[in-house]
Amino acid sequence: MNDEQLMRYSRHILLQEIGVEGQQRLLQSSVLIIGLGGLGSPAALYLAASGVGKLTLCDHDTVDFSNLQRQIIHRTATVGQSKVVSAQATLHEINPEVECVALPIRADEARLNELIAQADIVLDCSDNFVTRYAVNRACLAQRKPLVSGAAIQFHGQVSVFDFRRDDAPCYNCLFPEDSEAEELRCATTGVFAPLVGIIGTLQAAEALKLLMGIDRGLSGKLLSVNALDMNILRSSLSKDPACSVCGEHAIRTLEKRASY
Ligand SMILES: [Zn+2]
Repeated sequence: MNDEQLMRYSRHILLQEIGVEGQQRLLQSSVLIIGLGGLGSPAALYLAASGVGKLTLCDHDTVDFSNLQRQIIHRTATVGQSKVVSAQATLHEINPEVECVALPIRADEARLNELIAQADIVLDCSDNFVTRYAVNRACLAQRKPLVSGAAIQFHGQVSVFDFRRDDAPCYNCLFPEDSEAEELRCATTGVFAPLVGIIGTLQAAEALKLLMGIDRGLSGKLLSVNALDMNILRSSLSKDPACSVCGEHAIRTLEKRASY
């Protein structure tokens, strides 16, 4: 690290759990962020400010005037611009050292697999089930840790699925794809602005610790936040042996398919 880096990251380096070694690991890390909306905004800001070496931003959407209430990486002047380009500009102002790749695309499963293979960690900051299930499957296939966040109205949640571990549950164990869970959208039901800040910031915190090898936090846990009563509940998740994505039968089918 040069003198400027030692100064920029000095408050991290002072922490016993991080030090020069931990900061060095961040500088050499690569994170994929899916979605640059309410959750992706604070997550990307903190990861860039903290000195994560490379951030790949993936979002096909453009900045809408109604996003500005909570998507704090975007500016009034960038309404109409691609979200990833708008985010990239803000991140560059905060920390020009960070390599920031902007992908204005909706990644299909093949592209997701490719992008995830190149990343150390994936943050799911998307706002729909289709993307969440696709990201979950691709992270499991690539055995990459997934930091998953969601927020709607006054309720939010964060989980870490560390697929480097054989006993890790997956997103589908928690919310099976075939269940009839209703998809609520911010556009129709509303969302409390600071809630997405809380959840996205928790995702950044979990990602940084995973990158530095600090094995303490939300791996295999679900943190539920109720921002109205300000209740925070942490519960344990377990792998569902019958899960259609990570269960024994699913893994055997996956391996059989891979061996052909
Ligand atoms: Zn599962």
